[in-house]
Amino acid sequence: MIINTKSGLCPENCGYCAQSIISKAPVEKYSMMKKEEIVSGAKKAAELKAGTYCIVASGRGPANRELDIVVEAVKEIKEEYHSIAA
Ligand code: SF4
Repeated sequence: MIINTKSGLCPENCGYCAQSIISKAPVEKYSMMKKEEIVSGAKKAAELKAGTYCIVASGRGPANRELDIVVEAVKEIKEEYHSIAA
């Protein structure tokens, strides 16, 4: 299972990507999710018996603040949902 933690706000112009600044695709646009939302997605993944939970985000790369959120979420996911790899 995959979760897009930041969608449609990328400043890059990769021609194949619906989330790029040049795309006119009707994708959702939202900034970085909260840690609780990412962990909640992992709970759903575990309930659905997903083997792997992939955390992705649009953009060049995560800012330090965003990376901190993901690190904290992954720590919690590993503690609470042993059946999935995050
Ligand atoms: S999200 Fe990734 S693939 Fe899409 S435009 Fe941005 S850098 Fe390119």
